[in-house]
Amino acid sequence: MKERVEVMISADAISKRLEEMAEQIYEDFGGEQVELVCVLKGAVMTLTELSKRLKMPVTMSFMDVSSYGNGTESTGKIKILRDLDEDISGKNVLLIEDIIDSGRTLSHLRDLLLKREPKAFKICTLLDKPDRRVADVPVDYVGFTIPDAFVVGYGLDYAQRYRNLNYVGVLHFDEE
Ligand code: 5GP
Repeated sequence: MKERVEVMISADAISKRLEEMAEQIYEDFGGEQVELVCVLKGAVMTLTELSKRLKMPVTMSFMDVSSYGNGTESTGKIKILRDLDEDISGKNVLLIEDIIDSGRTLSHLRDLLLKREPKAFKICTLLDKPDRRVADVPVDYVGFTIPDAFVVGYGLDYAQRYRNLNYVGVLHFDEE
C-alpha cells in the first residue's frame, strides 16, 4: 500500500480563513486579553497560525488528554495527561481544536473547563465533520466544514506523520 495525500484545503485558503476568524474573535472578545488553550498535538499549528493574526494580547497554555476509545471511535471519557499550568477562572478562554468528529472528547473537555469558571469560554476548530457528530457541543468558530473523510496535515497526523503539511488533505491508500 502506498500512501497518497490529495489536497482538500489549500494553504492559501486556510490562511485567508484564519484571517477572517481572527477578526471575528477579536470583535467578539471586544479586544480583551484571551487565554488560548490548545489541545496537543493536533491543534498546535492552528494555535500558532491563528495567534499570529489576533490583534489583542493573548497568552497560551497547553493540555494533553487521551480519550479512551475502542480503536477508531473515541468514547469521550478523557484522561488528563497534562493539565493547564494556569488557573483559567475569571479569564477569557478560547479553546482551540484541530477537528471535531464525534464531538465526545470536546464535550467532556468543555464540561471540565467550564467548572473552572472562566469569564468567557468559546471554542474554535479548524475543521468540522458534522456528519459524524454524536455529542452535541456548541462550537463558536469553524474554519471549514468537511465531509466524512480521514484528513491529515496542518497539525493532523496519521501515525504521527503529516502534521507539518501546510494544507489539509485526504489520505488515500493505493495498491502498489
Ligand atoms: P472526537 O470528536 O470523535 O471525540 O475526536 C476528535 C479527535 O479525533 C480529533 O482531535 C483528532 O485527533 C481525531 N480525528 C478525528 N477525525 C480525524 C481525521 O480525519 N484525521 C485525523 N488525523 N484525526 C482525526
